[in-house]
Amino acid sequence: MADDTTRGFTADGLNPQTLPQTLLVHAGTRRSGFDETSEAIFMTSGFVYRTAEEAEHAFANEGVRFVYSRFRNPTVAMFEDRLAAYEGFPRCYATATGMAAVFASVMGLLKAGDRIVASRALFGSCLFIVKDIAPRFGIETVLVDATDRAGWERALATPAAMVFLESPSNPCLEIVDLAHVCGLAKRAGALVVVDNVFATPVLQKPKDFGADLVVYSATKHIDGQGRCLGGAILCDEEIAARLSPWMRHTGPSMSPFNAWVLLKGLETLELRVRAQCAGADAVARFLEGHAAVARVIHPGLDSHPQRALARAQMKAGGNLIAFDLKAPEADAKARAFRFMNALGVISISNNLGDSKSLITHPATTTHQRLTEEERAHLGIRPGTVRLSVGLEDPADLIRDLERALSA
Ligand SMILES: *Cc1c(COP(=O)(O)O)cnc(C)c1O
Repeated sequence: MADDTTRGFTADGLNPQTLPQTLLVHAGTRRSGFDETSEAIFMTSGFVYRTAEEAEHAFANEGVRFVYSRFRNPTVAMFEDRLAAYEGFPRCYATATGMAAVFASVMGLLKAGDRIVASRALFGSCLFIVKDIAPRFGIETVLVDATDRAGWERALATPAAMVFLESPSNPCLEIVDLAHVCGLAKRAGALVVVDNVFATPVLQKPKDFGADLVVYSATKHIDGQGRCLGGAILCDEEIAARLSPWMRHTGPSMSPFNAWVLLKGLETLELRVRAQCAGADAVARFLEGHAAVARVIHPGLDSHPQRALARAQMKAGGNLIAFDLKAPEADAKARAFRFMNALGVISISNNLGDSKSLITHPATTTHQRLTEEERAHLGIRPGTVRLSVGLEDPADLIRDLERALSA
């Protein structure tokens, strides 16, 4: 930031040639007068003014200095500027949770009478916002199957204000053709918001395919160590200006403490995600070759139905795997539960992106509220499990799975 909010801080010494991994370590750093190596946590709600005139000037000129931590805070600003530099957007708003980021990007930009076209395969709470909350405020929502090209074309043949999508999707890892949908959205006059959590900032840059906003749950891979909640919205200056009043006055702000944890998470993000992807590829290949496994879905496998598209949009397949064990339909849930209960290294949890490998049964947890038909439509079978591969040695994960598969 070139404004006075950097006053008292040294510059971070970066230039336009600085490479991504270096940005994750250094971008956004504001060093205080104590010359600390590790970024400081500014646990303060407010800021003092040396004179009444200075306070008057600060309120008359938004952004000239830190005024109140609901608007801006030095530690939060470091996190925002670092993620923005890495993602390639000029602006980032950090939020208390991923859902606060999603809610602000939808409700902060739309108004009654607008139309939103959304992917049906969305994280449950995102689906609730577009399908249940937005219509209560006069916003029309149209849902499209992630992989239905003709469906996107039909839905975007009429003007729309926003497209909201997730790729790969939860939990069956369907890929939306970002360039195709962004092209259709431009013609329909719609802003495209991509929930990029499953792909991570490391593997996919939706902006390169035409997305206008990218939202994250920083709770997942950005923290990556299961410690705190957080979210982020990335966009250009014009959209940031439209969002600004919503962000300032509705208070979805991130805590400076969480911003500090997540800032440290960014430093190791690439290293962790690459290691997780390598582990997930090894685990997915093992599962595919196992006689007790009926189906394995992972964007890094040649058997993924959209392998070519996944390769074109993502640098690697990600750390998530969905799979089913062989079992008669009536016994599929019990078989999946027996298998999950027999795991030792891999824990049962609905979180993802953690350094610890986590497994969940979507039909009875994250997607419990859907009807049987809605689940089947998303590819979620009674025995489907979703595995988030962590940072353990993949050989230990494979041994754990092997043992549980024969339980
Ligand atoms: C977890 C998640 C969210 C919500 O994030 P929170 O930090 O839990 O509020 C949104 N979208 C996706 C894809 C997620 O995985």
